[in-house]
Amino acid sequence: MTDATVNVTTCPRCDTENVRILTTSPVPGRWTMYICDTCIYSWRSTEPRSATDPQSYPAEFKIDPAEIPSLPAIPTVPPRRR
Ligand SMILES: [Zn+2]
Repeated sequence: MTDATVNVTTCPRCDTENVRILTTSPVPGRWTMYICDTCIYSWRSTEPRSATDPQSYPAEFKIDPAEIPSLPAIPTVPPRRR
C-alpha cells in the first residue's frame, strides 16, 4: 500500500507548490486526497505514480500555469440569447 503520510508539496500536473490536503480517509492513515489550488487537479495518495508524481505525470497532460487564463472552456459557453 502507498504510504498515505508522504508529504506532498508539488502538483503533478502544473508543478506549482500550491497544494493542500483536500480530505483524508475515513479510516485514519489509509489515504490522503490532495488538491492543487492553481490548476484544480486533485489526486489520492494511493493512485499510480503517473497520477501523483510530477516526474512521472504524462508530459502531454502537463499544464503551464501561465496558460490557464487563456485555456478554452470545454464545452464552449454559448453566447447569450439577448
Ligand atoms: Zn496544479
